[in-house]
Amino acid sequence: MAEEAINNDSSVQDQWGQICSQLKTEVGETAFDSWLKPLTLGSFNDGVMNICVPTRFMRNWVITHYSDRIHKIWEKTNPAIKNVNFVVQAVQEETHGLYNPTCRSLLKKITSTPAPQNIYQSGINNVVANNNEGSLNDSLSVPLNPQYTFDNFVVGKTNEFAYAAARKVAESRNISFNPLFLYSGVGLGKTHLMHAIAWHIKQQDPSRNIVYLSAEKFMYKFVRALRYKDTTAFKEQFRSVDVLMVDDVQFMGGKDTTQEEFFYTFNSLIEEGRQIIISADKSPADLEGIEARLKSRLGCGLVADIHPTDFDLRMGILNNKAKQLGVELPERVAEFLAQKITSNIRELEGALRRVIAHSQLLSDKEITLDMTQDVLKDMLRSFDKRTTIDEIQKKVAEHFNISVKEMQSSRRARTVARPRQIAMYLAKQLTSRSLPEIGRKFDRDHTTVMHAVRKVEELIVEDVSLAENVDALRRALEA
Ligand code: ADP
Ligand code: MG
Repeated sequence: MAEEAINNDSSVQDQWGQICSQLKTEVGETAFDSWLKPLTLGSFNDGVMNICVPTRFMRNWVITHYSDRIHKIWEKTNPAIKNVNFVVQAVQEETHGLYNPTCRSLLKKITSTPAPQNIYQSGINNVVANNNEGSLNDSLSVPLNPQYTFDNFVVGKTNEFAYAAARKVAESRNISFNPLFLYSGVGLGKTHLMHAIAWHIKQQDPSRNIVYLSAEKFMYKFVRALRYKDTTAFKEQFRSVDVLMVDDVQFMGGKDTTQEEFFYTFNSLIEEGRQIIISADKSPADLEGIEARLKSRLGCGLVADIHPTDFDLRMGILNNKAKQLGVELPERVAEFLAQKITSNIRELEGALRRVIAHSQLLSDKEITLDMTQDVLKDMLRSFDKRTTIDEIQKKVAEHFNISVKEMQSSRRARTVARPRQIAMYLAKQLTSRSLPEIGRKFDRDHTTVMHAVRKVEELIVEDVSLAENVDALRRALEA
């Protein structure tokens, strides 16, 4: 295919659009906005699609975190594309100074909100402004979502503790816990609660300076400051902060200099009696690649986790959301959704939105169970297909003719240990479980899993027959 042809081919642009929306659902809005939204399609050559990235730092990040996934989705969407390549194509802003006054501040400051009754409006404006595909900086700033308030948060058994903790922090004039550390799997309401705290504090006292940012943004910002040798200005920005919220700190794992800077910022704010709120996908102790002293600092306030949803909460959320949208949701449909979509709230809401959109597009066709099942066919199939660690253990054990019990046992004989390592490796590759979670399933700790993953990665290169076995297992599990 000629280079130009594919670029002008609107179907490739369409495919890219679809890929982006799939990635957005998979990685979440924050990560998407920070790392994937700035990517643009480049040229196409010999089966290789070039994707442009604004900076070298971003390129490295995208390659380590997302390239496999992007490659996989492209391949599925368009078989002509055999590989993807990331090229740095500088955005003009990159050549300016770091603190170019025309650049919008990266940190989301809420100080500018004039009065409590305007919060809603100003939130909406922020969201709209940020939707303009514009300069690099636009895609960096994370606006507060006007929907993410305490009023819109449905409380159930699985999240009541985190909710109570968040309310307490938002309502207290004095600092009660510092930091408040919220953790849960994806899509269970951490970001929602953080924004809710911010809106609430701002409503009580508009003069308080609240900064909300993702850990990725913190890192991005800091690395740029290092590059432009301007870390003093970076530190300055945190000086006048009353409440600092850093979302998804697991992304700081392994980034030592950033962690050090964060540790410094964190300590000085705590010492000055400012409130800090942190979120992550794991408890402080389980965070991977985070320095011990930072972990212990993160865990020294109140640690609150949000558990996976239960049926009642899912029903509550569906009914609440439908009411907000002014839609009549039949009980049977709500029950069906609440039974089928158990992974997280983001996906539950996504399913509901799809059903509603469908009914409205077909000139207000009534929402029925049949229609819901039909609209969500693909989505439900992919849920059914998701591999679990149990399945992986079972398949791998069968393949090597050992029992699952042996696989989980402490036996170290090669005939058992190798299949165990392969199962751990596949669990890491095919599920979104963390190393400690995988470890628990094998009665091992996360370092053993990490070791197994590395070992299998090495063996795949050296040992053709092992590589074939792993590949066959992967295909069987993905089928
Ligand atoms: P996380 O940050 O944990 O990945 P989010 O806070 O982004 O999850 O939540 C994902 C989606 O689910 C958001 O749209 C959010 O509004 C919604 N959500 C999460 N928990 C609740 C809840 N208890 N009540 C209503 N909506 C919720
Ligand atoms: Mg979040």
